Amino acid sequence: MVEEPRADHVIVVGAGIAGTAAAFRLRRAGRRVTLLEREDHVGGRMSAREVRVGDALYRVDRGASWLSHNYTSMIELLGDAGLTGRMLPCSDELGVLRDGRVHRLSLVRSSGLLRTGLLGWRAKLRAVNLLRDLAAARRRLRWEDMSGAAELDRENAREYALRRLDRELLDYLVEPLCGSQFLTPAEEVAAVGALCIMWGTFGAASFTFDGGTGRLPEYLLDTPVMCSPGTRVELRAQVTEVRREGDGAVVVWERDGEVRTERARACVVAVPARAAARIVTGLDQDQRSHLAGVRWTSDVHVTFGVSRPPVETALGVAVPCREHPDLCIVLYEHNLGPGRAPAGRGLVTLIFRHHWSATRTTADDDTVIADARAALGEVMPDLAAHIESHREMAVVQRWEDAVIARPAGGYRDLAAFTASLDGNSPVQLAGDYFSYSTTNAALATGEQAARRILGLPPTAAAAGDAGL
Ligand SMILES: Cc1cc2nc3c(=O)[nH]c(=O)nc-3n(C[C@H](O)[C@H](O)[C@H](O)COP(=O)(O)OP(=O)(O)OC[C@H]3O[C@@H](n4cnc5c(N)ncnc54)[C@H](O)[C@@H]3O)c2cc1C
Repeated sequence: MVEEPRADHVIVVGAGIAGTAAAFRLRRAGRRVTLLEREDHVGGRMSAREVRVGDALYRVDRGASWLSHNYTSMIELLGDAGLTGRMLPCSDELGVLRDGRVHRLSLVRSSGLLRTGLLGWRAKLRAVNLLRDLAAARRRLRWEDMSGAAELDRENAREYALRRLDRELLDYLVEPLCGSQFLTPAEEVAAVGALCIMWGTFGAASFTFDGGTGRLPEYLLDTPVMCSPGTRVELRAQVTEVRREGDGAVVVWERDGEVRTERARACVVAVPARAAARIVTGLDQDQRSHLAGVRWTSDVHVTFGVSRPPVETALGVAVPCREHPDLCIVLYEHNLGPGRAPAGRGLVTLIFRHHWSATRTTADDDTVIADARAALGEVMPDLAAHIESHREMAVVQRWEDAVIARPAGGYRDLAAFTASLDGNSPVQLAGDYFSYSTTNAALATGEQAARRILGLPPTAAAAGDAGL
């Protein structure tokens, strides 16, 4: 059955934060919106699930769990959606493990870097180069499109750190941050990626939402503008084709074997790059190869609910490769905001470098949990013992395409790709693959796609007036 188009109807494919942000902006501008999502829940990599153990309710983020006041697009959207009141403060400390000891850095005060025992004086002096390079890079870094950083994309993060910084900064700052963000060792990602993390992470307080970070897409869909009659949300709707037809878009989707074809004035395709390459017809060969070839890291991680929270004030402890080859960050989710764990209990997540995850994508949960627990015991035995004694539950989360880890040269490829896209097409793409994998970047790409469909000029930041 082919449904007739309405001049003001826009279809959004994918209900992650990129798709829900696009849907919200389009609906607020008066368009009728249909949101098609393959899963039985919204949010994609920004979603949460509830795990009940007796009377205790744990709220476990499936993907993103940390947000920053550097996330300017998100904060503006929260204001426009009337959701600012849902923001809650959380821990601003990030720990880094060195020789078995946790050194805590403030994400807000850069003076903490001067005082920390994590780094020696030589490294602290060399860190001035990092601050200079960040200041120079700033105007090229844009949340919704990192292709402006192509000119800086000449080496990987390890080469950069050894050339401009020093070995200690590589081992105990650059490398653990690359692990935590990209789930890779520093040599596998572009230096631009390391600069992106520094800008996105430091210099601002962290926040969360009541009920977990992953709730934002749900909260957006619950706003009065999205609950009005012009919004339709279809779950378990697998989109198989999106094509441009004249000055409109045609979308084919199926559920339970029933195939539906809908026409609309326009379509935002907000699915991960590989899925976009499969469903969007009309891309040229280079565009399709770029989307299919974006380098993703996989993630298999474990979250433990414990009847007593371990003693730690940081939101997480990054584990450098020198300390452990596989484990890259331990998140103390109960320090990321109230309500994740029941009062008096704790929630601890172990995240691993992608090579560890890649060999466990098909392993059963018990094996993954045992392997994760063993890895933790090798590097943080007290925490491993605490989890062993107080464990109430353990859940495994798997993402085949978890985060983008562009290697050196990847931002130049991105620039060629974005330059080849038609900003006036009724089919617009969105997703974190235009940037680096953060919820704010994904959200900004969704808003950018909506602006293009609405025929609005780019935002000030997108026009290059402001950086991150
Ligand atoms: C383990 C992990 C931890 C992370 N931690 C953080 C963090 O702490 N802070 C942070 O800011 N970011 C974090 N990120 C990154 C962040 O979660 C992502 O960058 C962001 O959520 C991506 O949003 P998106 O909308 O682009 O994509 P997605 O969230 O992947 O959304 C795409 C949606 O499209 C749907 N879809 C796909 N194909 C189809 C189809 N054919 N038809 C219909 N629907 C389809 C999917 O089901 C999904 O819902 C993390 C990611 C992971 C995996």
